[in-house]
Amino acid sequence: MKKTFFKEDSIGEILSKEFVLYSENLHLEELAHSNSYTVIPARISNDDSIQRKFLKHGPEIALERAYSIGYSFELDVPNELCKLAFEEERKRISCAYSFKPYWGLDRKKRRVSLVDCFLGAKLYAYSENNPEDKIKINIYGDSLRVAKEGANVFLEVPSTQEGSPGYKFSFVFVPIVDNQLKNKIWQQVSSNHSCQYKYFKGLKYNFFNSLEDSSTNDFCFHEIAGYYKIIDESLKKGNRVPFEMNPFVIPTKSTVDFNLALENNVLLFDETIKEKNKLRKPKIADKEILNWERVRKNPYRNLFFYDRNNKGKLKDYFKK
Ligand SMILES: [Zn+2]
Repeated sequence: MKKTFFKEDSIGEILSKEFVLYSENLHLEELAHSNSYTVIPARISNDDSIQRKFLKHGPEIALERAYSIGYSFELDVPNELCKLAFEEERKRISCAYSFKPYWGLDRKKRRVSLVDCFLGAKLYAYSENNPEDKIKINIYGDSLRVAKEGANVFLEVPSTQEGSPGYKFSFVFVPIVDNQLKNKIWQQVSSNHSCQYKYFKGLKYNFFNSLEDSSTNDFCFHEIAGYYKIIDESLKKGNRVPFEMNPFVIPTKSTVDFNLALENNVLLFDETIKEKNKLRKPKIADKEILNWERVRKNPYRNLFFYDRNNKGKLKDYFKK
């Protein structure tokens, strides 16, 4: 069972709210924390195997890659790469964005989904507001090698489930030193975290004729929540490097509200389901698609942290 903070309203609870007709002028984020709901058409089948297939094999937005060591140093910071890629490829509905290091032993493609950035923000906000369930981090950053290889960071991240012990894992290649190498270190970031959610996301084989290695590193929301905490702790100590090199987009208040509305104020009309009213709740692939549709229609800076546009603190975004 989920902890209260992570519970979504059930279909019955949503139906007991006041119905508002969906129109182009209604922004779903305005419904968050309200006693209203709306209905929009489903974008993808309710069938779990189709939902899964989209999340694993759907189109991706590739951040600019470096194809030489020299160019690795010249790549812009991740937030700029995201802005560029998201605004350039607005027409594409994706299942994730991706980056890939040019060097190092682990050159697997790293994939990040927008829903996981939202869920990561939610878990981070929960832990900041619940002293007994705080994310704990320990940055091993004293060795000289850290300037070259980034820091190892040990984390304990709480579970969203009641009675579950939470997760202990470590990140490697976390840039914490302000030097030129930080530009290549962030691309190598990875962790030894495992959970059912991540295992399931990573479990896939590419289509037979694909040129890419089928194994990817798909970050999950536990890792993203942990990375947000690393940013937070480092900023408190006056170190901006983990923030500057952060590869996980940080939602603005309106993006948080949009996703909260998908949890509590939006139903999908889906003709393929057996229920009489043809209404169902959005699942993960539905939410990912709706988030990318929103990316297509809005400037990046309205949706994700960019250039000090965020008002207030991420940890307070979920309060009513
Ligand atoms: Zn996880």
